[in-house]
Amino acid sequence: MSFDLTGKVALVTGASQGLGARFAETLAASGVAVAVAARQVAKLEDLAERIRGAGGSAHAVAMDVTDPASVAAAIEDAEAALGSLDILVNNAGIAVQKPFLEMSPEDYDQVLDTNLKGCFLVAQAAARRMKESGGGSIINISSVLGTEVIGALSTYCASKGGLLQLNRAMALELSRYGIRVNAIAPGYIETPINSDFFKTEPGQKMVKTIPQRRLGQPDDLDGALLLLASDQGAYMTGSLITVDGGFVLR
Ligand code: NAD
Repeated sequence: MSFDLTGKVALVTGASQGLGARFAETLAASGVAVAVAARQVAKLEDLAERIRGAGGSAHAVAMDVTDPASVAAAIEDAEAALGSLDILVNNAGIAVQKPFLEMSPEDYDQVLDTNLKGCFLVAQAAARRMKESGGGSIINISSVLGTEVIGALSTYCASKGGLLQLNRAMALELSRYGIRVNAIAPGYIETPINSDFFKTEPGQKMVKTIPQRRLGQPDDLDGALLLLASDQGAYMTGSLITVDGGFVLR
């Protein structure tokens, strides 16, 4: 079974690097016209160029997911360039790593505003458009830390856990409009922000706690992404797909 998404239009947030860039390239390779969004368009232009160079269709849009006006403008820009949205990948996310007793109210706001409120704002704006056009698929990038906890990431764990409940609540309410809402919980996936850490001794120790004894690579998420984005996942809504080499089983 292959995933043919030709003619679909997607928006991927936080696409300037890491998983978001991979999600955009994977969708584009399956025929999706992709709007790649992040705060700085300059960083996105290279990716859009790379996608176009590979024969795909892409458009870079500036979007700060914490700012409702920026979200509205970006969705308008994306739809004007590529057509009405069929797929949203809510991927933008940040982490503040500190012991709980040192976490400041500002740290809390920054993480929750990006990882939870940001997903709410972008999903709501996209869903209003999808309702008009007859449906769509929203994919929320949570984390294994939405259900598990580790030290020094309390606000991140809270944001990703909240996102899982938001995922389910949206799925319940949006089904009637033909909009499916699902989440992916990646385990430890090697991206530019964490690859140095995983080369250190504590990082290597952490890798040994993963049942498969290896870090995930961004392409390990391709199957889950394409399943949820495509009609092959038509009867899936409110689900969570965990892609973690067995991390949550420890
Ligand atoms: P990353 O830091 O490489 O990428 C995050 C992206 O989000 C960047 O493009 C950044 O510019 C963007 N971003 C941050 N704040 C933003 C804002 N206010 N508005 C718009 N864009 C913003 O991280 P990554 O490893 O690629 O992670 C991507 C997503 O996957 C995140 O939600 C992260 O929590 C989740 N995740 C990652 C892993 C992992 O191991 N890499 C594991 C589980 C979940």
